[in-house]
Amino acid sequence: MIDQFNSSNFPKSLDKLTESEIKRKACIAKVMTYTLRNLTSQFVNNGFEWLLPVTLSQSTDPLWPDPGASIEKRIEVDIYGKTVRTTASMIIHKLIASSTAYPKLFILSPNIRIEKAERAKTGMHIYEFSQLDFEIRDASSKDVMVLVEDAIYNLVTSLHQDMKKELITLCTSDTIKIPKKPFKIFDRCDLETEYGENWEEKISKEITDPIWITNIPREFYDFEDFKTGKWDNYDLFLPKFGETLSGAKREWEYAKIIEKIERDNVDKENYKLLLQLSKEGKLKPSSGGGIGLERLVSWISGAKHIAETQPFPRIPGIVHEL
Ligand code: AMP
Ligand code: MG
Repeated sequence: MIDQFNSSNFPKSLDKLTESEIKRKACIAKVMTYTLRNLTSQFVNNGFEWLLPVTLSQSTDPLWPDPGASIEKRIEVDIYGKTVRTTASMIIHKLIASSTAYPKLFILSPNIRIEKAERAKTGMHIYEFSQLDFEIRDASSKDVMVLVEDAIYNLVTSLHQDMKKELITLCTSDTIKIPKKPFKIFDRCDLETEYGENWEEKISKEITDPIWITNIPREFYDFEDFKTGKWDNYDLFLPKFGETLSGAKREWEYAKIIEKIERDNVDKENYKLLLQLSKEGKLKPSSGGGIGLERLVSWISGAKHIAETQPFPRIPGIVHEL
């Protein structure tokens, strides 16, 4: 999707839309509403607690080292004499919440990531987005992959039954097919060998069904087998829009977490509580993931640019009044 956009064809703010663009926007909103209702119902029916999000915390996702991250600015502000950061993701909150009062949880979580302005043109990056972020104590990667496959399968099946008219209007009723389970799994190493360093972009263009990609080196909280060097994590890729979910089995042992934090040069001061709980043996094994809702709905509704799914577009480099 690289570079098919420029400032003249970026999604516009509500006040600038033509009549037909308003109709399309309203139709995508119906698909978003349906998707939110369907997915949250599935999670609630599967025994998950629905937690409300926070947006200011001392501890948030370091987003480092993640080869996909391109952050221009991190927002920090002082409140009540403490420095807090806007939520990059609620991963740290999820690890502690699932280890304590909420063994199965999900959150519709606003994520603020001030992406570099040039990412406006990828069509798949916005600087504020929402994840359906979930975590399950004592679950394996396989458990999560099965849960996600069921969730996507049920969602697409229901959309074809209940939102026929909208999918026809958006011209996706033929292209968004009910996916076959289980989804195919690829190892990132094999994709690098086959496609080179731009494997993410190339595979996203090539696939016609959702796929899993595993074994991706990234932040300290994803589980890494120190003996084999393999990462027990997984990304769900959707045609065209690419990575739409990242998840993993998590680290919970103090010795490994501290070693990885130091190896990555991440500031220990921002993860004091997580480190303390893991040292005390109170951090529990878990697996989970986060579904980017705007990318998911972009795929379903055939959006050209992901900001089309937002009422108030958050295109990198462009700040509207609303
Ligand atoms: P991450 O924590 O970076 O793995 O992100 C989790 C999910 O959030 C991704 O798989 C995407 O669906 C979504 N996401 C991440 N960054 C962005 C962005 N800049 N714009 C829109 N969605 C994003
Ligand atoms: Mg990711």
